[in-house]
Amino acid sequence: MIRCRAKKFDYRRLPTTSVIIAFYNEAWSTLLRTIHSVLESTPAVLLREIILIDDFSDRVYLKSQLEQYISNWERVRLIRTNKREGLVRARLIGASYATGDVLTFLDCHCECVPGWIEPLLERIGENESTIVCPVIDTIDWNSFEFYMQTDEPMIGGFDWRLTFQWHAIPEVERKKRKSRIEPIRSPTMAGGLFAVSKAYFEHLGTYDMGMDVWGGENLELSFRVWQCGGSLEIHPCSHVGHVFPKKAPYARPKFLQNTVRAAEVWMDTYKQHFYNRNPPARKETYGDISERVVIRERLKCNGFDWYLNNVYPDLHVPEDRDGWHGALLSSGIHSECLDYNAPEHNPTGAHVSLFSCHGQGGNQYFEYTTHKEIRYNSVTELCAEVPEGQIYIGMTHCPHDRTPTPPTIIWEFREDGTLYHPHSGMCITSYRTAEGRTDVQMRICTSGDKQQRWKFENGRDEPHPK
Ligand code: UDP
Ligand code: MN
Repeated sequence: MIRCRAKKFDYRRLPTTSVIIAFYNEAWSTLLRTIHSVLESTPAVLLREIILIDDFSDRVYLKSQLEQYISNWERVRLIRTNKREGLVRARLIGASYATGDVLTFLDCHCECVPGWIEPLLERIGENESTIVCPVIDTIDWNSFEFYMQTDEPMIGGFDWRLTFQWHAIPEVERKKRKSRIEPIRSPTMAGGLFAVSKAYFEHLGTYDMGMDVWGGENLELSFRVWQCGGSLEIHPCSHVGHVFPKKAPYARPKFLQNTVRAAEVWMDTYKQHFYNRNPPARKETYGDISERVVIRERLKCNGFDWYLNNVYPDLHVPEDRDGWHGALLSSGIHSECLDYNAPEHNPTGAHVSLFSCHGQGGNQYFEYTTHKEIRYNSVTELCAEVPEGQIYIGMTHCPHDRTPTPPTIIWEFREDGTLYHPHSGMCITSYRTAEGRTDVQMRICTSGDKQQRWKFENGRDEPHPK
């Protein structure tokens, strides 16, 4: 952005930084591209050192070949762990060697754009309790081409399955900004790339060391910094490219467990919405969280309701009334449930169908609300509808909380178990196709027809078993 380039920095007044890069079995070229780009695009006066942490990789080229290669650079240190630590503990081991004022964490397959570090450091210099993320540009996984994000940056959010999601900047937030090059408040961070004052990071309780391998730590840190009096921002003038691989290069078995830890420590009663949508999470053992709870008390952090109201007011909070949410089980066809598979790039582009009940929440999780909607929560809030003149059940974006409900998304979940759609005058009906597949269709309501009866399963709010 032109206006970013016009910005001038007084290097003597900016804090210095240590760049921390943990890696596990990373490819040679991407690892080296990362190190080279940090060295070439970070002014020497600002960079105290680059700390590489080898998280117990087994690739041979990462042994003496790597040591040899980096030995020419006095500013690059290589630390090796004695066992596989996972990204959280690997980064913390790296941070313990850092001598800069600011810790800048990067993934090991990045490319920094010249001018990337100054805005991050300047912002932390102004406000020590803010965590600042660069805009993450995409490095194509096949061609390794670099795609700079040129439109307005996206900010971080999440859905109630606690999956990280990108969102456009909300209108209210956009109006508050005085200029397009101001940092943007973000409810959550993607995780890999951010800068934080070393002293503030320690004050805040660094990372949750009970988290293994990968996942969940980004939401945990996001909730913590906001709830405990700090802030989280994305700086539109700082750009770093990141390779998003098609498939994860290593297994990530601890993702759910880490996420449960984040929910248990920070989300208060709102964690139920997560467990409802992800029943296996209820049974996940998550280890000892008492030290994390002590941090929350010591820092006198706000509750999750404060976070929702003040930081993420756009997130729709489900009602999840007892008995009115879960899988919608057909009474007519044994063990079959309503199922919606939202296409990734077009969430409303599919029809509701019928599949065997799997009890895992996810694409079989629905909620019937006091506004008489059948909601499906994914990247955005979706509401079941029957489009004018159609006999299929589709999904449309739910109206905003304060706007009236359009008639095509209104349903009556009647005493007898029928799901009646007043606008079309029809009921959701399960049936078998000529090929023997099961599906659903809108049909004229017939009293006593079992194919038109439905009931919620897993609709109860059980606590997490301790
Ligand atoms: N990483 C690590 N140990 C692990 C898992 C990941 O050091 O057990 C490193 C990984 O090499 C990378 C960073 O942590 O530098 C983030 O992981 P990854 O890039 O796989 O996450 P993604 O970008 O897909 O979220
Ligand atoms: Mn990565």
